Amino acid sequence: MDYLPVFLDLAMRRVLVVGGGVVAARKVELLLQARALVRVVAPRLHPALSRARDAGRIEHIGAPFEPRHLEDVVLAIAATDRPEINRAVAAAGAALRVFVNVVDDAGASSCILPAIVDRSPVIVAVGTSAHSPALARRVRAQLEEWLPERLGELARLAARARARVRRALPDASRRRRFWDRLLAGRVATQVLAGQAAGAEALLEEELAAAVSGGQAGGEVYLIGAGPGDPDLLTLRAQQLLQQADVVLYDRLVAEAVLARARRDALRIFVGKQTGRHRVTQERIHTLLLEYAGRGLRVARLKGGDPLVFARGGEEIEVLRRAGVPVIVVPGITAALGAAASAGLPLTRRGVSQAVTLVTAMGEGAAALDWRALAAPLQTVVVYMGVAQLPRIVERLLAHGAPAARAAAIVEQATLPAERVIAGTLATIVQQAQAAQVGAPALLIVGEVAAQAAAAQAAGAQAAAARACQALPPGQSLPPTDASSPTDTERGA
Ligand code: SAH
Repeated sequence: MDYLPVFLDLAMRRVLVVGGGVVAARKVELLLQARALVRVVAPRLHPALSRARDAGRIEHIGAPFEPRHLEDVVLAIAATDRPEINRAVAAAGAALRVFVNVVDDAGASSCILPAIVDRSPVIVAVGTSAHSPALARRVRAQLEEWLPERLGELARLAARARARVRRALPDASRRRRFWDRLLAGRVATQVLAGQAAGAEALLEEELAAAVSGGQAGGEVYLIGAGPGDPDLLTLRAQQLLQQADVVLYDRLVAEAVLARARRDALRIFVGKQTGRHRVTQERIHTLLLEYAGRGLRVARLKGGDPLVFARGGEEIEVLRRAGVPVIVVPGITAALGAAASAGLPLTRRGVSQAVTLVTAMGEGAAALDWRALAAPLQTVVVYMGVAQLPRIVERLLAHGAPAARAAAIVEQATLPAERVIAGTLATIVQQAQAAQVGAPALLIVGEVAAQAAAAQAAGAQAAAARACQALPPGQSLPPTDASSPTDTERGA
């Protein structure tokens, strides 16, 4: 190990910053956050530093650096753009045994500042022993994604309970097990999901259970799995999938999403397949209550968003009534995934002022206000079984929608096999039949759908243009006969 990471308590300790530019200003800001007494030595100051000086937040010496500026200082940062000055600071610091960081010059420094992920009071410091600051930044960015925003809140909750827990569980190893469970369990989940209000009471419950040797309760995460592409999961969905003991998933949950669950989690398919034997909604409720009742963390994973045509509302109700904590994690609903994939806006000034999501599955379709859905200046997204398509289009036309109104079908939106079929109400049924569209698919009706057709045409054009550009100047398209090797074959 080339460096020892330490956390310095700089409160009311003096730190010297040499330099008055934008880099110095950034370091000063950081030091002030750590409540250091900051002395800046620089003939001229960046406006941010002038403001800090005028507000009395820093001490300013408007002269060239001299070793005596290091008096009473515990740490110094040399941040000028003049290497000889920076090195003079380093040399003076070495003589006085003050740690000096020279910005961007680890060789001249006796300490280096890490990249930081700040979830105060939780702070993660990342360093590469000066091998690659760019790599440190990258690691930092990955941690930023991975560490929940409210980690600090969780630390504060733990700090508040610490003395109480110590009294209730005097045995150190039992106490450690309690904390391990607590920080991976429902108290932590609640705090991290921004529901801190109930967390304190839950903690008491868990503590009582731990003292009596009883079992702590489980919880349910109602998670939107998005339309299919696993990279469209929210960060919270990923975090909770990684901690769930059991995953109950629907038919529409993509394999790649399911793969993001913990490797040893119990996976249970509860998909409802129309026409075939199916797991009833009541059976799903029973499973949720049963597993949570055993103290397990249960992820209920639904395609798209769990509260859009997904019966998530009923599940929340059942769980709440039984006193099981529920965390709801929104997902990208199919309409949003499909719009992004097809490159069509769901609203557009002067073209579409409203979006309606409807489901045309089940008996509910007849009860919909088809006249309103047929009206202009809006976008209607129909979640549908593909078999209903002709009936839906017929109803829209019968209620006054013009046959020329643009319409698009997006099949398997965001999945590898995605297809977009663009046309009009007059043509879309035939197009879908010709293309043998299958489930899952959405119908998007409204003038905005014309943009899908345009995007497709532009995409084809761009592909053709790329193919031409790839050729050396003066050459025409390569022969298409199979005997001439392609570039890839040559390369292989
Ligand atoms: N809760 C889900 C909707 C469930 S209803 C959501 O928010 O997306 C099921 C219907 O959603 C399917 O019949 C289909 O119309 C639509 N759907 C779901 N995933 C889809 C996808 N990847 N591509 C196209 N349509 C999809």
